[in-house]
Amino acid sequence: MTDSPILLTPGPLTTHPATRQAMLRDWGSRDAGFIALTAEMRARLLQVAQGAGSHVAVPLQGSGTFVVEATLATLLPPEGKLLVLVNGAYGERMVSIARRMGRRAEALRWREDEPVTPGLVASALQADPGITHVALVHCETTTGILNPLPEIAAAVAAAGRPFLLDAMSSFGALPIDLRTTPVTALMASSNKCLEGVPGLGFALIETAALAAAEGRSPSTSLDLHAQWRGFEKDGQWRFTPPVQVVAALVEALRRLEAEGGPPARLARYRRNLETLTTGMARLGFELYLDPAVQAPVIATFRLPQAPALAFRPFYDALAERGFLIYPGKLTEAETFRIGCIGALDETDFRRLLAAIEDVIGA
Ligand SMILES: *Cc1c(COP(=O)(O)O)cnc(C)c1O
Repeated sequence: MTDSPILLTPGPLTTHPATRQAMLRDWGSRDAGFIALTAEMRARLLQVAQGAGSHVAVPLQGSGTFVVEATLATLLPPEGKLLVLVNGAYGERMVSIARRMGRRAEALRWREDEPVTPGLVASALQADPGITHVALVHCETTTGILNPLPEIAAAVAAAGRPFLLDAMSSFGALPIDLRTTPVTALMASSNKCLEGVPGLGFALIETAALAAAEGRSPSTSLDLHAQWRGFEKDGQWRFTPPVQVVAALVEALRRLEAEGGPPARLARYRRNLETLTTGMARLGFELYLDPAVQAPVIATFRLPQAPALAFRPFYDALAERGFLIYPGKLTEAETFRIGCIGALDETDFRRLLAAIEDVIGA
């Protein structure tokens, strides 16, 4: 079916052949056909989280970090102060992005294996009236931990602060309903649970919040208010769009709908995770997180100590067999990660487990 390796990574990830096929033509960026494709993409992105009517979808060229930076730049006023709820590297990155652009930002930190707790968020917001915005990473891809989104969003809304959500590795699979969960801006990208190819990020932003942000971004290319106005004016992108990436994402979004939407995708990812963790336990690999807080997105395993297994040779041996795994991103433990997302099912994970068994000689 494919010459590509199986990517067991959080993105870029394994895509369906039809999604790659959608890239095999050229598009004029100012042509009616591509304008229609962009409009379909923006409408479908809102539909994934039931945001039509309250939010607008603003796509942006680049990887996920570009859209995080653009969203913070557009929504945080110079006198604002961001509180980031941190339990991993992507939360830390938001703190440094905000500070780098001259915005005040503070971190409220949890251990990397502990979910963010809504009660502490509520008391932090009560203690510091100077905090104007709150940011959270829904699924911290550092470990694969799932933070309790509805409870945290409710605590932030009760304190009257706008809420910025990095849903990069959850959007499209884990439930996010913008009708019932108060989220001012949600950020995600083409190449994770949506199963598109990399090259595009997007934010779903409350219309009123975005309308109020004119001229605020200190950056031209990362100004999401101006980007939005461009789409509203004539349906076109301000600067050269990644046309093939857009075409692939539209195909991937149609495939998401055909699969049965986020609930069906989540069920497939859960089966992938279940197959993976059961098999890995049998082979003697310990899951880093408590299964109760593990999202079916990416699993972190400890590298066995006795007999010692080094990441690099393990990686190379699996790569030779057609499987690309992912290094760990933790400071305090020797780990590696295996993604459960992408156009993969249990069969692929059973084949992976057979390859791992072969490599470790179990
Ligand atoms: C992937 C990811 C990002 C963005 O990373 P890029 O490498 O810039 O695409 C941001 N936050 C989270 C939680 C992610 O998983």
